[in-house]
Amino acid sequence: MSWLDNIRPKIRALVTREVPENLWVKCPACDQMIFHRELDANLKVCPHCGHHMRIAARERLAALFDDGAFQEIEPPKAVVDPLKFRDRKRYTERLRDAQAATGARESGGDAAIVAHGTMGGMKVVVAAFDFSFMGGSMGIAVGEAFVAAARLAVLQQAPLIAIPASGGARMQEGILSLMQMPRTVVAVQEVREARLPFISLMTDPTTGGVSASFAMLGDIAIAEPGATIGFAGKRVIEDTIREKLPDGFQSAEYLHEHGMVDMVVPRQDMRETLIRTLRHLIRPNPPADVVRLKPAPRIAAPKAAKPAAAGPMAESVTESGAESVTESVAEPAAGPATGPAAGKSGGGAPAGKADAPAAAPEAEESGEKAGD
Ligand SMILES: [Zn+2]
Repeated sequence: MSWLDNIRPKIRALVTREVPENLWVKCPACDQMIFHRELDANLKVCPHCGHHMRIAARERLAALFDDGAFQEIEPPKAVVDPLKFRDRKRYTERLRDAQAATGARESGGDAAIVAHGTMGGMKVVVAAFDFSFMGGSMGIAVGEAFVAAARLAVLQQAPLIAIPASGGARMQEGILSLMQMPRTVVAVQEVREARLPFISLMTDPTTGGVSASFAMLGDIAIAEPGATIGFAGKRVIEDTIREKLPDGFQSAEYLHEHGMVDMVVPRQDMRETLIRTLRHLIRPNPPADVVRLKPAPRIAAPKAAKPAAAGPMAESVTESGAESVTESVAEPAAGPATGPAAGKSGGGAPAGKADAPAAAPEAEESGEKAGD
């Protein structure tokens, strides 16, 4: 890029009169001018310096789902303005302005949208935040949307991906917004209990009550380059502890270096990375070349024993135990598929085999109780 590229937009603005000003966007990191189409094609990443600008939730979703196709669900209606809050403006007015600005007025939408569709052919539920809607702040409606996303994931037996872009809890809803922190944590727990993956894709910024609740609970924590991720702001911390914080503190890269984030992934590679990660986590179809621990006759033994059901108990138990090990390695998420078959073939002892992972916590609990 030369000085000519820098000056071109200014000349064009002089020559042609009715050029809307927003055709060129100035990169906040390197001050280069970028043509808006080029910027959109590049998913709002500066082509000169790689700076990741904020992107609208729907635009992001279109870039993640297969063929850009996804369906939004309408989260349950939440109480609006329970505190009748007013600062310089009424909270209801602020909401209305934000809804008008983000095109969410008809649906009464809020800062989070819930969408489902497929990524790499796998069903996925996504809860994405729109920072342009009141700073992506989490109030009752956002909490409601996140819980709805988690329940939809459980219902569809699909992984959940959260994409926070939020300044934290919504001040206008006072303590009710803080209550969304435990609510979303419980929602994550529901996904976990259903043995489904939960991925947190932290974008700029992921701070306050959002980072202090579900955002940091991902089985896999992914962040976008340069994203600010933290709880309190740097200045607040410095004032409190009276110490200078290191450079790059609370950036995605810093958190990655210190083990709080698993990967920092550029936006262009995000879809591929998510698909690859989900494939590792769910394996919708077990690969054909599963290597069994023992040759075929031993695997066939429990099935052969099914009609007879008279084989030595101890032997059938150990065999099914061994099989469950190989199977759980080969197809961790194939529980529903193998469940009924395993139940039939098992009869007594092996019946618990397929359910074993899900039932494990209960078993432990009852074991503890028995111990007491
Ligand atoms: Zn730039």
